[in-house]
Amino acid sequence: MSLIEGRTGEWEVVIGLEVHAQIISNAKLFSGAATAFGAEPNTQVSPVDAGFPGMLPVINRRCVEQAVKTGLGLAARINLHSVFDRKNYFYADLPQGYQISQYLTPVVGKGSIILDMPDGSAREIGITRLHLEQDAGKSLHDQQATSTYVDLNRSGVGLMEIVSEPDMRTAEEAGAYLRKLRSILRYLGTCDGNMEEGSMRCDVNVSVRKPGAPLGTRCEIKNVNSVRFVMLAIDYEARRQVEVLEDGGEIRQETRLFDSGRGTTRPMRSKENAHDYRYFPDPDLLPLILDPAWVEGIKRTLPELPDAKKSRFVRDYGLSVEDAGVLVAEQESADYFEAVARGRDAKLAANWVMGDLFGALNRLGRRIEDSPVSAAGLGEMIDLIADGTLSGRLAKDVFAGMVETGASPAAIVEERGLRQVTDTGEIETAIDAVLAANGDKVAEYRSGKDKLFGFFVGQVMKATQGKANPATLNEILRNKLAG
Ligand code: ADP
Ligand code: MG
Repeated sequence: MSLIEGRTGEWEVVIGLEVHAQIISNAKLFSGAATAFGAEPNTQVSPVDAGFPGMLPVINRRCVEQAVKTGLGLAARINLHSVFDRKNYFYADLPQGYQISQYLTPVVGKGSIILDMPDGSAREIGITRLHLEQDAGKSLHDQQATSTYVDLNRSGVGLMEIVSEPDMRTAEEAGAYLRKLRSILRYLGTCDGNMEEGSMRCDVNVSVRKPGAPLGTRCEIKNVNSVRFVMLAIDYEARRQVEVLEDGGEIRQETRLFDSGRGTTRPMRSKENAHDYRYFPDPDLLPLILDPAWVEGIKRTLPELPDAKKSRFVRDYGLSVEDAGVLVAEQESADYFEAVARGRDAKLAANWVMGDLFGALNRLGRRIEDSPVSAAGLGEMIDLIADGTLSGRLAKDVFAGMVETGASPAAIVEERGLRQVTDTGEIETAIDAVLAANGDKVAEYRSGKDKLFGFFVGQVMKATQGKANPATLNEILRNKLAG
């Protein structure tokens, strides 16, 4: 646990996150309008989404299924009986004048998420609830100098609001929580987790207290749109609160905004309370009653989730917990790894995937789905290492060629003549030439300057264009120098 050192001693930071995750669904939560990102403004709007008088919302079964699936993936309680409420407030981009949400009885209750911290420790963070609600439209302030435009495409899109317990204690834990939650949502296929496009948005609640004291008053930082910004916002906000308290002030419960340019938070409004919203059950919607058999059916469709996959990778492939954690973070990289590792040296496969492949993808700014090197291609290359055609060193060149051209490893070996030399005669000839040309160094070596061994290896490698089998080279060289 990392505490903040203040003038008056140590302070503990307490963090709870509310994540709005946009449900993957072709249609909105209560209308049949489309949800595709990036459409022309106001082209995906039904009368329900525009709040026309007399419109009637109809619940989208697919959205409910996605929420239940997510609840199951978070090891949470599924409430077979839940209720939709109206949350009343005024926004220019909220034409209904209220948001249909769930208040006292959400569709999903308590669950949990396991965080794997970089130091190898694990932390369990409680999930308080997950409820369904509509998204609002979008006000566009930058289209024209004197007017604000409203785009209702997003109005009525289904969101899952996932609320955590105030269980996190550091910005790193909050970051790990968001990454893990995003990973689970992607595995489940219930939200694409894309924070840049706003399909996952985070409200950050922060308070500070003296260790062991009751919870302090929280401030809520609204709509932070990247993991890094969430972490920066927490660090800034916690320090700000410590300063206020140490100066004898008190924290007012308020809603704040994160200024990513300055790395600071500033007040937006005093915090509203639940009673300000005049929540009441939406009279247009019946309670949501789920058939337990339907829920069971959804449970059977759950994919293997990151935690289970990680344990399996450690167990079946003998990977370290850290490596397995990296590989399972995205389903696509886990699948890729398994395709390479199956029937091969799994640790070698993991090293190539996490080292050279991830490095190349990073450089190219590509996702693993668009990798220039296929899993089958990388697998073939590892086979060439295993059968002695390639040394680890030559394999690096072959791999670089694969990234560059997309050609098969065998083709690159042939074309560039990268085949490893294992023929002892050929290697011996090269060694003899090097030793003959460096008689002084040979004498130095023999009189005890062991470090020169590397020099001879380097010279022979140079002479063979890096193709000499390293083990054979070492053995023959050692014998010759000893003799
Ligand atoms: P609201 O919508 O009013 O913000 P919610 O219950 O939806 O209320 O969310 C409250 C969030 O604030 C939760 O994530 C919870 O863990 C967190 N939280 C509650 N109390 C504190 C506190 N004292 N310090 C930090 N976070 C808190
Ligand atoms: Mg809140």
